[in-house]
Amino acid sequence: MERYDRQIRVHQIGPSGQKRIEQSHVVIIGLGATGSYAAEQLTRAGIGALTLIDSDTVSLTNLQRQTLFDEVDVAHEAFKVEAAAEKLGKINHNVTLNIFPKRFTPELLAQVPAFDLVLDCTDNFTTRDLLNRLACNQGFAFIMASCAGTAGSVMLFDPKNGPCLNCAYPQLKALQARDCDTLGVNTALVPLVSALQISLALKYLIAPADCATDMMAIFDNWQLSLQHFKVQKNRHCPTCENLPAALPLPRTMQLRSLCGTNTYQVELDNAPTLDQVAAALTEAQIPFDQNQALLRFKWRERPFSYFKTGQCHLYDWPDTEQAELCFLDFYHFIKPIQIEEAITE
Ligand SMILES: [Zn+2]
Repeated sequence: MERYDRQIRVHQIGPSGQKRIEQSHVVIIGLGATGSYAAEQLTRAGIGALTLIDSDTVSLTNLQRQTLFDEVDVAHEAFKVEAAAEKLGKINHNVTLNIFPKRFTPELLAQVPAFDLVLDCTDNFTTRDLLNRLACNQGFAFIMASCAGTAGSVMLFDPKNGPCLNCAYPQLKALQARDCDTLGVNTALVPLVSALQISLALKYLIAPADCATDMMAIFDNWQLSLQHFKVQKNRHCPTCENLPAALPLPRTMQLRSLCGTNTYQVELDNAPTLDQVAAALTEAQIPFDQNQALLRFKWRERPFSYFKTGQCHLYDWPDTEQAELCFLDFYHFIKPIQIEEAITE
């Protein structure tokens, strides 16, 4: 008997849709209430691969709504991703599981194999903002699910083809300031909001062109009401309309101004060699001078020196902010070299 018989009989899915599900890789960020529910449902639906990212261990207050965990996990202080993987493996051994008991960072996402979709199951706007910046910068889609009190919101963000999270929430910074407030969540709200997120995820994997990228659904489980709101792309959005600046710099790389000059200095982590940078410049048809110690060229029309130690000097910038935008642009230009190196090491 075909394991997915009941799902294949749904005409919107059918054998080809099921095949598509089985070939898909979904990344779930956050294995709290919505994340553990999403992981279980996608595993039962026969997803090809799941990557689970969460640095937390299971605690007693999780059990009220996080369905993959139990009191044994609390007693063992198990990492959520490990406890989840153990249970998911028993539900469907065909699913490939990648687990990261770590905090979500750009460096971590770079280690994840090619994926089709990300599910935002975080409980805070700081991580959500970072995910959105990465989605804008790298051009992938993600589906947000957020629950608070008796209301939950679900939306597909595909910044290539529609608004981003910051377009939908212009007050993103103010929301981040409230991340530490502990919000109540109604137990019954979670599976309802989660079901909306997973419905949208399956539809996106099978028929992405049929999914609205400008529609937020808000469900209230006390009113039993479902409302839809149209979200417009903001032409002045500080995130998706300024792509080179969308990503934050790693904390170790901060620009310093050289006293009394308009020159800024910064040092790269995992610096590529002069020859690697020279090759990238040649490919981009950017003229440069090279000696044994450094490369000299223009970046954003101003002089830029790249030293073999990974030092960068940016000249003639009126302030730190503009120098930083220039450096971010360069940083994302050479980043593929760094990632390639990390993989081949
Ligand atoms: Zn935006």
